[in-house]
Amino acid sequence: MNIKSNLEKIKSKISKDIKVIAVSKTKSNNEILEAYNCGQLSFGENKVQELIEKSSALPKDIEWHFIGHLQRNKVKFIIPFIHLIHSVDSFNLIDEINKRAEKENRIINCLIQVKIASEESKFGFHYSRIDEVLEYSKKLNYINIKGLMGMSTFTNNYKIIEEEFSLLNKVFQERKKDNFKILSMGMSNDYEKAILNGSNMIRLGSIIFGKRN
Ligand SMILES: *Cc1c(COP(=O)(O)O)cnc(C)c1O
Repeated sequence: MNIKSNLEKIKSKISKDIKVIAVSKTKSNNEILEAYNCGQLSFGENKVQELIEKSSALPKDIEWHFIGHLQRNKVKFIIPFIHLIHSVDSFNLIDEINKRAEKENRIINCLIQVKIASEESKFGFHYSRIDEVLEYSKKLNYINIKGLMGMSTFTNNYKIIEEEFSLLNKVFQERKKDNFKILSMGMSNDYEKAILNGSNMIRLGSIIFGKRN
């Protein structure tokens, strides 16, 4: 895998307004550094332990994104340095992030994860609850909701993915009045469809680093 040429190829295809998060889960520090040396500064991880090991060993100007299901008891470990939590999926988690952020005196940027996929295993709030989540978060001083994140159903059926992305984009557009800025949507297999449906942040793993074991 040539990480540099993979990155260049992707970036040549997309607008500069779309932020690429290089999803480095399971990948080594050397592989991350290879991407970093090409100017890629944003990386995504989905396991707290792995993230803290990597963040302590790697350059301090990396922006780390948490993209997986986050357990409450692990929140405190990432609060000192995390750039954006994409995967806020419960009120309990919101409370814990706010509490730990207050202790660190850091305002934490977060996205509400919306469950657009049909799989039971996927996390997120139903889109009908976004109002409630937003009202709740507005009362908290150390959490800043910047937008929405979603994952499509794992399928080859283009129509299903299209419908899910278009629904999330509709919800996002309605929220721009609440100062929503980020729509994190699209992975290696579906990022082009996500961009066509309004995504401005894509989370790419295998297309940059190669398949994971
Ligand atoms: C692993 C992962 C990705 C990247 O997946 P690829 O298919 O390798 O691009 C993106 N988003 C989330 C939430 C992930 O867990």
